[in-house]
Amino acid sequence: MKCRKCDGELEVKRSCRRVRLKCRNCHREYQIHEVASDLDEKTSAILEQYTTIIYD
Ligand SMILES: [Zn+2]
Repeated sequence: MKCRKCDGELEVKRSCRRVRLKCRNCHREYQIHEVASDLDEKTSAILEQYTTIIYD
């Protein structure tokens, strides 16, 4: 899925019990709830692997 700022590719970043989406281009990080309405199938599938993670 794409960054809202620059259209760069977002990748899922896991750290401890948190997960973030980070842009490879501008390095902006998004919390899951910020982009929840834009999640695509691929990203949702990745996030489903982290069902124990707290989406803060
Ligand atoms: Zn970006």
